[in-house]
Amino acid sequence: MTEQPHFDVIVIGGGPAGVAAAVQADAKRLSVLLIDEQERAGGQVYRWNGVGIDAGPGAEMRARLAASGVRTAFSHRCWHVQPDRTVRCTGPDGNMTFTADALILATGASERVTPVPGWTTPGVVGLAAATILLKSEGVLPGRNVVVAGCGPLLLFVAAKIIAGGGQVAAIVDRNGPSDWLSCLPAAMTNPKLGMEGAGWALSLLKRGTPIHFNSRIVAVNGDDEVQAVSVAAVGENASSSAHSIACDALCYGDGLMPATEMTRLLHADHDFDAALGGWHVRADAHRRTSLDRIYACGDGAGVMGAAAAPVQGRIAALAAAWDLGKMDEARFEAETQRLSRYGQRVSRFGAAMTGLTVAGVRVPLTGSEMICRCESVSHDELERAVAAGAVTVNAVKAATRCGMGPCGGRYCVPSVAKIIAAHEQVDVSRIAPGTARPPLRPVPVGTLMGDFAYEDIPFREPAPL
Ligand SMILES: Cc1cc2nc3c(=O)[nH]c(=O)nc-3n(C[C@H](O)[C@H](O)[C@H](O)COP(=O)(O)OP(=O)(O)OC[C@H]3O[C@@H](n4cnc5c(N)ncnc54)[C@H](O)[C@@H]3O)c2cc1C
Repeated sequence: MTEQPHFDVIVIGGGPAGVAAAVQADAKRLSVLLIDEQERAGGQVYRWNGVGIDAGPGAEMRARLAASGVRTAFSHRCWHVQPDRTVRCTGPDGNMTFTADALILATGASERVTPVPGWTTPGVVGLAAATILLKSEGVLPGRNVVVAGCGPLLLFVAAKIIAGGGQVAAIVDRNGPSDWLSCLPAAMTNPKLGMEGAGWALSLLKRGTPIHFNSRIVAVNGDDEVQAVSVAAVGENASSSAHSIACDALCYGDGLMPATEMTRLLHADHDFDAALGGWHVRADAHRRTSLDRIYACGDGAGVMGAAAAPVQGRIAALAAAWDLGKMDEARFEAETQRLSRYGQRVSRFGAAMTGLTVAGVRVPLTGSEMICRCESVSHDELERAVAAGAVTVNAVKAATRCGMGPCGGRYCVPSVAKIIAAHEQVDVSRIAPGTARPPLRPVPVGTLMGDFAYEDIPFREPAPL
């Protein structure tokens, strides 16, 4: 195992929040390491497209990073972090261990997909995952696609499919027109993004793309591939009101959830707020978590969108600089106050967009579907475990293996929480997400072992008989 140098600051996550934090910390003359599992900086929103065309805000961000003194470790997956700010990752050169005086977590969000019968059929793609297919790979999820769920990614994905030469069979939106209209004032606080969204909506309307408002997917039909989806009105009985829409793919997602696995592993304090995507690490106005010199920013600390993320990143870096004695108080106060005021303004757009996904946080489950794809655990098995007394996420995991697979529970734990909440007759916000354990990402055992030989294992001498 190679020991790596010590840094003033390590930033985990090279999206808008993490890059802004790293560049700001570097500007305060701190030694900085930025780690990300992707090949380049950009995060989810400004993904490197891999084909050599680099333009727009992502390119600007990457140029700012390249011009700074920040040391980068891309293609490095962090699989363990400790409260003493030791970070372990695997990269192209094997397993690496880094340490720092301050740790800034900017690990973004993951998407919420509520299981429905048939959701594991090939051709069903997460809505946010579809943005990766479309942006990074230039691949259409299908030729005739239903785009469903809630939030602004509905419009983005539908518009991109059409621009790529595909057909959108229908948009199925959990929200109604009044929910979208209520976002208009906030949308106008960021006219560029607001106009972009309006452009997508207009292009879909002009093409006559059917939009089913206040509606939900209740089943995916087809054995080896998607052939149709069943759609029903939100709140109505699916068996009496469902109708079928033919399609060859479904892009489907109920919004984003802050990625809390690192902060849960660290045992930081967390809160639940549906308007921020659900469970998120608690951070103060200067992005300090409950742990000493560990900070959180961007969507990972509450989904607020790509405009708010870099502001939070810069505030976190300033707080780290102040806590490490590299800034005087007057400067710190002036810079963080200016950034906070700006942050409040730009957060309104993101907050309104996340507001459109609140509907997805408490969506009930429908019945016998598979919940944990990694370990093949069905809804019925989970209900039985809960009825037998496993009323915490940890207890359900121990009883059924749900959440023990390579996704680390990112997909199934929100559903487990809903099953427990329904059984206990409490709101889902009362169900804690469970303990996180290393490895946070799948790590090959060979990488951890390095060139360790079996003969080197220090077996004790057998006791004399
Ligand atoms: C799949 C997906 C697609 C999205 N697409 C869009 C879109 O098209 N348009 C839009 O406006 N918004 C999109 N969003 C929302 C958008 O990501 C955020 O609003 C914005 O990017 C937040 O910036 P951030 O820096 O907080 O997080 P992110 O941009 O998500 O950056 C987090 C970074 O942390 C890295 N990371 C996380 N865990 C680890 C680990 N263990 N080891 C190493 N690196 C790690 C990730 O690789 C990622 O690069 C998407 C979100 C997701 C989850």
